[in-house]
Amino acid sequence: MTYKITALPGDGIGPEILKGSIEILETLSKKFQFEYDLVTKDFGGIAIDKHGEPLPPDTLEACRNSDAILLGAVGGPKWTNPKNRPEHGLLGIRKALNLFANIRPTIVTESTAHLSPLKESIVKDTDFIIVRELTGGLYFGEPKYFNDDQAVDTLTYTTDEITRIAHIAFKLASKRNKVVTSVDKENVLSSSKLWRQTLEQVSKEYPDVTLNHLLVDACSMHLITNPKQFDVIVTENLFGDILSDEASVIPGSLGLSPSASFGENGPSLYEPIHGSAPDIAGQNKANPSGMLLSLAMCIRESLHQPECAQHLEDIVFNTIKNGIATKDLGGNNSTSEVFEAIKQSI
Ligand code: ATP
Ligand code: MG
Repeated sequence: MTYKITALPGDGIGPEILKGSIEILETLSKKFQFEYDLVTKDFGGIAIDKHGEPLPPDTLEACRNSDAILLGAVGGPKWTNPKNRPEHGLLGIRKALNLFANIRPTIVTESTAHLSPLKESIVKDTDFIIVRELTGGLYFGEPKYFNDDQAVDTLTYTTDEITRIAHIAFKLASKRNKVVTSVDKENVLSSSKLWRQTLEQVSKEYPDVTLNHLLVDACSMHLITNPKQFDVIVTENLFGDILSDEASVIPGSLGLSPSASFGENGPSLYEPIHGSAPDIAGQNKANPSGMLLSLAMCIRESLHQPECAQHLEDIVFNTIKNGIATKDLGGNNSTSEVFEAIKQSI
């Protein structure tokens, strides 16, 4: 089976970090002997410049027909029209592909623990994933309206919506340390009661995975006082939004963290959590780690090559440990030097 990948370099540092990552994928595929077809498409600001819209039909069509999408970053100060923004392409793709599950790993190794604003002893060896429900809850529930004397948002979840995100969390946990922590506000919210009840139900299908429940207020504390206790955290849209931003400070650099978004059957999308970093674009300064770790997730989840994924993750962290790192990590290497070192280690 030849897997299809669509590459969307986007704007700012996006093209620099994606181009090098695709070369790494090429080298890895030879070592681990797997095949893939890759097409590159315009997306974001560059697509506005060339085609008048951030998500041209041809780009969306390619994404729909692929197994995985690798995205650099979109946006920048150049695109100021509020009605035609690069970021609209991102929302469009999430909606068109029904990407309901957002996955954000937080990893702190020995070589990166000193970068964290938190104590090294607290963060060292942290390795957890937040699974955030992305298409339901307060952001989309009806009724939703704004009047001068009253405004309403509705927090609604169906059993089906909770069940499908729960399966994503349990499947990830079964391949890891086999603990799911479900985060809710069950003591006050009806939607959280259904959430907890449904998680319990789904957990029966995964007897080797332990399910814990935690209230969101407690979780926000635990996340920065004892992040090592977590394996897979699963939560609804708003709680996930807040907790994943809180988690993003743990590793100490935006340039380190990857993410993935999963749909029902269609393609999954992999992108670093950072933006297009226009202040350093085109200067060969960007840290490619977040992009490379997103590629590792893609290799594991969409190309089904777990050993290759692990190899890439190990190399990314070992390279930093060996002192080859960009400025944001306290090093003095360029993006291309980091890529070269990684390629040599494959
Ligand atoms: P967006 O709105 O697109 O999320 P943002 O305002 O959050 O963007 P980023 O583009 O993520 O901002 O950049 C924030 C800061 O972090 C910038 O100073 C940028 O240079 C730095 N930064 C982001 N990504 C990287 C990276 N991969 N390597 C080095 N520095 C980075
Ligand atoms: Mg941002």
